[in-house]
Amino acid sequence: MAVDKQKLQPGAQNQPSTSGEHDGLSADELFSHGKGLTYDDFIILPGYIDFQASEVDLESNVTRNIRIKRPLVSSPMDTVTEWKMAVYLALLGGIGIIHYNNSIDAQVEHVRKVKRFENGFIIDPVVLSPNHTVSDVDAIKREHGFSGIPITEDGTLGSKLVGIVTNRDIDFEKDRSRPLSEVMTKDLITAKEGVTLREANQILKASKKGKLPVVDDQFRLVALLSRRDLLTNKDFPYASKSSGKQLLVGAAVSTRQEDRERIEALVDAGVDVLLIDSAQGYSSYQIETIKFIKHRYPGVDVVAGNVVTTEQSRALIEAGADSLRVGMGPGSICITQTMMAVGRPQATAVYKCAKFAREYGIPVIADGGIQGIGHIAKALAIGAGAVMAGYLLAGTAESPGEYFYENGVRVKRYRGMASVEAMSAGGGKRYMSEDSKVIVPQGVSGTVPDRGSLVDYVPYLMKGLQQAFQDMGVRNVAELHDSLYSGRLRFEQRTFAAQAEGTVHSLHSFSPPKFGRIQVDAF
Ligand code: GDP
Ligand code: GDP
Ligand code: 5GP
Repeated sequence: MAVDKQKLQPGAQNQPSTSGEHDGLSADELFSHGKGLTYDDFIILPGYIDFQASEVDLESNVTRNIRIKRPLVSSPMDTVTEWKMAVYLALLGGIGIIHYNNSIDAQVEHVRKVKRFENGFIIDPVVLSPNHTVSDVDAIKREHGFSGIPITEDGTLGSKLVGIVTNRDIDFEKDRSRPLSEVMTKDLITAKEGVTLREANQILKASKKGKLPVVDDQFRLVALLSRRDLLTNKDFPYASKSSGKQLLVGAAVSTRQEDRERIEALVDAGVDVLLIDSAQGYSSYQIETIKFIKHRYPGVDVVAGNVVTTEQSRALIEAGADSLRVGMGPGSICITQTMMAVGRPQATAVYKCAKFAREYGIPVIADGGIQGIGHIAKALAIGAGAVMAGYLLAGTAESPGEYFYENGVRVKRYRGMASVEAMSAGGGKRYMSEDSKVIVPQGVSGTVPDRGSLVDYVPYLMKGLQQAFQDMGVRNVAELHDSLYSGRLRFEQRTFAAQAEGTVHSLHSFSPPKFGRIQVDAF
């Protein structure tokens, strides 16, 4: 038998194969046999490692124009994304999409809170007039959580700055009906409009105050800086920010005519992305809504969907979509496939739509069914630009709702937007047709375990994802997608026995890892 001497040389096994021979299947081969697959049905074969996991760059396009450092999007669901989720997810490098199971005013207020948060200049600070009282500041503190309030002549931004009130001015004030003119500090340290963030921060540091009002040449208030933000800025190096240094945020809207007003209000509030929320996005209503938004507000990116086929993808991309949301039925709370007989296994859906959308330079978001790090890695490996998660983020401290105990386990409520509960609260917009008297639910309501704060959880997920990239032998999302489409990235289908082998088995007992179920976090 002929022996290949090269193969016997020391260290040769560490070198990448140059023979062109490939073990396993290309993605095209994996997904071409007509059976719908999902994440657990396949495995990715290891690549060649010559770099550290910490060198892996997870930056990715979530829409045509928006790149984020962490490919994680929170789902527009009323038990997942309100302002707090959106703020912290953006600080940690992802992006949140505010749900619309609420009034226009309520949704807009969530968007405003995200846009106002942290990062440099607060361009829309809450302002009062000298005639307001201490109790007005109390009300702001209760509603918004801050109490550093600039005082202007007529109580609006853009009017002459006459003072500032902070906690320290009113802490011990017994008479809460006193006008602010009597308690405010009038001798102010300010910065001039046009000041850079850097200069403003220096003034703020030198002044040793908590707030720095920014004024124009006629002393009219134009913005506010907060000392707290100086500190937070340092802690979130991956924060998703627009050029104005505000956090990025998206909001969901429906295709209904009455939501045109919602769209306008959200754009006015500074929303960066509009997501058209529809379980089956291939409709004339959706196409009209995309065209309406792109015509009226060309600067706002549109995520369209949901789609699971190339035909659906083509229609929405041609209507102007800047990103596609892929998934019909894979969600943890979802019963669409059972109830409606329509949908597609998620991995096949993501692969087909992503490959098609790539031809147009449009990224896709793999929405639903993400149970842990391995699923995020697989979604990206089959072409997604980012994943959208409900279940994964619902039990965090930043999701809406309170924790409670269920059979001794600390949980939060998590419900499908097409569950009877959510639809009764107004969420049927995505799933119900005209007649709302008869409700056919496409989702359930349940609970998820406490996952602690996003501030710990997202870095954990992303570190795991970096390690998964390292195992696949790729340093970033672009490289991953190149190796996917060139056929270099190799896959194999898994039998049930292989899936059972690939997770914990045979033990008498074991401790699950800190953040939950090992079988879903393992490949
Ligand atoms: P305060 O001293 O009670 O006003 O609160 P901090 O300065 O400690 O924190 C206020 C936080 O709320 C900062 O991160 C601000 O960026 C943020 N914030 C958002 N909008 C506003 C606003 O209109 N006024 C103030 N004072 N803070 C705001
Ligand atoms: P804290 O949140 O109460 O710690 O607020 P600050 O540190 O901002 O304010 C402390 C004191 O300084 C309060 O009496 C404020 O009214 C006053 N103060 C806040 N901003 C300014 C300012 O720009 N100039 C001056 N001179 N005083 C200010
Ligand atoms: P998860 O991350 O929990 O697996 O899935 C979240 C996704 O499920 C959402 O982003 C959304 O696309 C979808 N979804 C949310 N609520 C419902 C529902 O009530 N029914 C169905 N069919 N899908 C839902």
